[in-house]
Amino acid sequence: MEVFEKHESQVRGYIRSFPVVFDKAIGAELFDEDGNRFIDFFAGAGTLNYGHNPEAAVEASIKYLQDRRIAHGLDKATVAKKTFIEVFVKYILEPRGYDYKMQFTGPTGTNCTEAAMKLARQVKGRANIVAFTNGYHGHTMGALAVTGNEAYRDASYGSRGAVSFMPFDGFLGDDIDTIHVFRRFLEDHGSGMETPAAVIVETVQGEGGINVASTDWLQRLAALCKEFDILLIIDDIQVGNGRTGKFFSFEEAGIEPDMVCLSKSIGGGNPMALLLMKPEADVWSPGEHTGTFRGNSMAFVAATELIQQYWADDKLTAEVARKSVIMLEALDGLRDEFPALNCKVRGRGLVLGIETPVAGFSDKVAARAFEKRLVCETCGADSQVNKLFVALNIEDELLHEGLALFREAFREVAQETL
Ligand code: PMP
Repeated sequence: MEVFEKHESQVRGYIRSFPVVFDKAIGAELFDEDGNRFIDFFAGAGTLNYGHNPEAAVEASIKYLQDRRIAHGLDKATVAKKTFIEVFVKYILEPRGYDYKMQFTGPTGTNCTEAAMKLARQVKGRANIVAFTNGYHGHTMGALAVTGNEAYRDASYGSRGAVSFMPFDGFLGDDIDTIHVFRRFLEDHGSGMETPAAVIVETVQGEGGINVASTDWLQRLAALCKEFDILLIIDDIQVGNGRTGKFFSFEEAGIEPDMVCLSKSIGGGNPMALLLMKPEADVWSPGEHTGTFRGNSMAFVAATELIQQYWADDKLTAEVARKSVIMLEALDGLRDEFPALNCKVRGRGLVLGIETPVAGFSDKVAARAFEKRLVCETCGADSQVNKLFVALNIEDELLHEGLALFREAFREVAQETL
């Protein structure tokens, strides 16, 4: 640890929660430099939906490098990119009847949300973007402006202009219909809200506390956007790529966003971001949103393998549903075991969390879990939710082993607290 403390900036984050030096990683297991084994219930915050170093991706990547095929291509045409596009169209877009155009932005999620907002403003010739309470869209200045959590926003002193926040589903309690609130702001000329170019929203807020938007809410949001000529951007960076079951998290709602942001797991663990846009929204001039690392060949190679392996049929979707039941049973059990803690279990598919409204509780559970060699994190504006993200293809044995460790950690902290 000394080398990091001495030379790495104070900005370092996860290294503080997980103070070991990681080395190897396979599937849902991590190993530190001393060979200690950890179970991964973090999955790179949604980057490792297919696990660490999935075999097919590793083999294809080694071969690609050994054959000295092109690694860096900016956004030139490469065989790796062509093959990825063909596979993505065949296995993801066509079966769903989507005709999105594809833009490879710089390889981080935040670059993708920036591009989406920039494009939406251009398409509509309006500045305002509506974001939702507890939303999270990245840490560059434009993305921060639509991110709710004050801990990230305050110290950046960036402009929050041209952004309006609206309450997410459930933010004002069960009895208040937040789509109705949004509608009132749009239709009343005295509301002070400029008609937005776009709305940016997550269907399940991953960083914001595992807040799930209901199907009905999403459908009414999509309809409201149509009615008021506003573009709908779904940020599927964390909960897309099968994490809720279907490839896209909005499929169940039957809505078709104007733009979709993908990153994290799309590159099979390699940096990659992909903005999907309806053809009529593709008003970019050539090279208008550029970047040096838009054509990450290694991500294309890995993604090509993984999409063919996992998205040719519905098996992974069924796996997610089956494992979700197992995990919910464990989380519901903990909630019921400690009624005095007033826990809430939330999520959909394998985006799951348990909220405990006791200051510091969830952080203690995550720290205790780590002592037991289970890697998991917290989320929510007050770190009030233990978030459990497993690789979608995690073996049942590891899933049960990890859940047992989480239960133990939770129980110990609950007993100490009550
Ligand atoms: N949007 C969402 C929904 C995210 O969860 C994240 C990352 N946690 C981002 C955007 C930003 O992605 P990145 O960290 O790769 O910039």
